[in-house]
Amino acid sequence: MEAKRDIKSLNHHELELLMKDLGQPRFRVKQLEEWLYLRDCEIISEMDNLPKSLRDQLDRDFFIGTLKLVTRQVSQDGTRKYLFEIPNGARVETVGIPSPDGDRLTVCFSSQAGCPMGCSFCATGRAGFVCNLTSGEMYDQVRYVARDFEMRVTNVVCMGQGEPFLNYDAVITALRRMNSKTGMGIGARHITVSTCGLLEGIRRFSQEPEQFTLAVSLHAAIQKTRNALMPGVSNVSLEELRHALKDYGETTKRRPSLEYAPIKGVNDDDEHIDALVSFCKGMLCHVNLIPLNPITSGQEDEGMMVPSDRVAHISRELEARGIENSIRNSRGKDIDGACGQLRQRVED
Ligand code: SAH
Ligand code: SF4
Repeated sequence: MEAKRDIKSLNHHELELLMKDLGQPRFRVKQLEEWLYLRDCEIISEMDNLPKSLRDQLDRDFFIGTLKLVTRQVSQDGTRKYLFEIPNGARVETVGIPSPDGDRLTVCFSSQAGCPMGCSFCATGRAGFVCNLTSGEMYDQVRYVARDFEMRVTNVVCMGQGEPFLNYDAVITALRRMNSKTGMGIGARHITVSTCGLLEGIRRFSQEPEQFTLAVSLHAAIQKTRNALMPGVSNVSLEELRHALKDYGETTKRRPSLEYAPIKGVNDDDEHIDALVSFCKGMLCHVNLIPLNPITSGQEDEGMMVPSDRVAHISRELEARGIENSIRNSRGKDIDGACGQLRQRVED
């Protein structure tokens, strides 16, 4: 007998094919999606508007994957971090970030358990790769946070563990479900995917019909520095990356964000700022300066930190040279829930 599959790993089209194969009318797809993505059903036999015979057939071939909460931590600033276990036993982290006025709720979800890219400044990169997540496992992270906060999710960022473009199809399926009316109905423009800069992924992403937002971790516009910081993308030349981003802007008319974490003595001097300005000139983009978040509790981190007045200086310098930018202060640092701090550990 074949092993059962997680029904939540199927995309809309695959569900349509499945219903067709089982001789069911099309409206069953909507009913099924409502059970899975709006009503959080965890047991197929409970889908009581589906014929009993269909429920039995589905039960035979599928299970409904669910996330098991391992720990939940609450930061002083209201940010919450969740550690989940997925059905295969791997663990992933998700962060819920409420705006200070309580109007918005942003969820940062993971696309892989761990990450194979090995960026030197990132806790996830240091921990290595475990597995890809299914679309259902990504969707459910966001759904769980909405229920925990008892509020609508207004913004989603795929900036947790993992490199989303190494798991492209499942990520897009998850985003579509978040965007869908038979899902959470989150506006596409409020859904952002962050990549370390995989060219094929950027090209494909520019062809998607939805207006999802793209962010790229740049961190250095000098090749040698970027290769050292981000060894997993050392085969991607900055010139090609710039080309791909320019095409993205021209095709979509949308402005990608470039993430840049200044690191002391590595990418924060005038030469690197000049290179960043040249990289951005003549292209739609917005630079997000992310003050580096500590990933160990040792002195190694302290030596890498750039003082906040230097970050402010970089921001003013970019501004003066016509490069739009902002400084993004991470939330949830006290619970290791900020950018780059996610890993699979339980003890904190
Ligand atoms: N793999 C994707 C998405 C996950 S990383 C990517 O790299 O874009 C999410 C963001 O956190 C990226 O912009 C990443 O560069 C940034 N980041 C990683 N480690 C960090 C750290 N220690 N401090 C600040 N930002 C960090
Ligand atoms: Fe992976 Fe992104 Fe971390 Fe790099 S920064 S190791 S690509 S999660």
